[in-house]
Amino acid sequence: MFRSGITRPEQTLLNKGLELSDNCYNNDATFIMIISPKIRGFICTTAHPDGCEAHVRQQVEYVQKQPPIEDCPKKVLVIGSSTGYGLASRIVPAFAGQADTLGVFFERQPNDRKSGSSGWYNSAAFESMAKDQGLYARSINGDAFSKEIKDQAIKEIKESMGQVDCVIYSLASPRRQDPDTGDIYKSCLKPIGTTYTQKTVNTDKAEVEEITIEPANEDEINQTVKVMGGEDWELWMNALSEAGVLAPSITTLAYSYIGPELTWSVYKDGTIGRAKIHLEESCRRINEKLASLEGRAFVSVNKAVVTQASSAIPVVPLYISVLFKKMKEEGIHEDCIEQIHRLFSDRLTSDPKLDSSNRIRIDDWEMREDIQQSVADTWENINTENLKELSDFEGYQKDFLKLFGFGLDGVNYDAETDPLREIDLVD
Ligand code: NAD
Repeated sequence: MFRSGITRPEQTLLNKGLELSDNCYNNDATFIMIISPKIRGFICTTAHPDGCEAHVRQQVEYVQKQPPIEDCPKKVLVIGSSTGYGLASRIVPAFAGQADTLGVFFERQPNDRKSGSSGWYNSAAFESMAKDQGLYARSINGDAFSKEIKDQAIKEIKESMGQVDCVIYSLASPRRQDPDTGDIYKSCLKPIGTTYTQKTVNTDKAEVEEITIEPANEDEINQTVKVMGGEDWELWMNALSEAGVLAPSITTLAYSYIGPELTWSVYKDGTIGRAKIHLEESCRRINEKLASLEGRAFVSVNKAVVTQASSAIPVVPLYISVLFKKMKEEGIHEDCIEQIHRLFSDRLTSDPKLDSSNRIRIDDWEMREDIQQSVADTWENINTENLKELSDFEGYQKDFLKLFGFGLDGVNYDAETDPLREIDLVD
């Protein structure tokens, strides 16, 4: 049944149960839509292509304003390159060191019914800006845990880059399919040994409440290690090494977090912490294997920032809100891009300063004694009534929306936009 006064493409949309106010074709039959945030707990199911582009541009411009990085890697593979720390790890070498980059991610491609995921739009924007600078920038969209994606990356490196001198491993995933057995493992965020009760913020209601998390059983611990430990990083490095695509003096990095004592039960000493211990063990093994190339592997402990991964961790959004207020007051606030710029410019030197466990620490400002003391004092007193006064919850919410391309200056969110954005995918 056709409604009168509307076009055939519009009718198609109606038949699919979609709202014309949100989606329609323009006169050139290009698909356009008004895209608004649709938040479900700690995820936003829509993303704005122009907003994501503006967010990537902000990060690129930050890097361009800094002095160029001497001895910056020139050919970089970033696994988990579309959002958060991985995206920043692609932007920094590209725009501070003119590096060619190959990105691997798992993102939702837009179609004429649904906007793509923010990681898709970020990658499209990054590629376009990198290519404008004459840089090689291509991407692989698929499951980085699989053998197929590793083979695809190796083939592309051989054909287009020769070798890579830096590999960044920045995956954050809730599940992993074992490439040999096909078994699926799921990660969880739980304490180990004891029940954990702590304050948290209900981000939908802006209310401080208490959360209680029961301890993980042995199987949940093992599954989390399988997903978020270092096994897949090692598999990548083995595969790249065997294929001869690692350049002499290769550097590889994976990211970790430690944070304050108040989150230790659910983070450092919890299931994810076990996975990070495994990541450090993998780092030692990778280092040994890279000795013949005079290569080096590091775990870098980064600061808490708002990303899709961190928003899903109980307690952390409230901690971040309190932390950001203090770090902003002290003029030492950093987001992913500032952190990764500092990592590449100050830490990846010929003689990087490491902690007693051989890790790079760029969480140094977050962990400063005065910052942590202030956070601990605030934590004691924070409640729903004083949430906005004692913390930067507003900043947290703005950062969360920015992850999906919303709330960026200069973007007209009332205007229709084309959700389809191209990426130069390796096939
Ligand atoms: P994020 O959610 O922003 O990014 C995750 C990336 O992994 C995305 O590019 C996504 O596409 C990719 N990905 C997920 N599953 C994949 C799969 N199967 N195949 C291919 N790509 C896949 O996460 P983030 O917060 O930037 O975390 C990256 C790393 O940094 C993690 O190891 C995390 O523990 C660490 N870290 C995060 C924080 C923080 O506060 N966010 C702090 C310190 C360390």
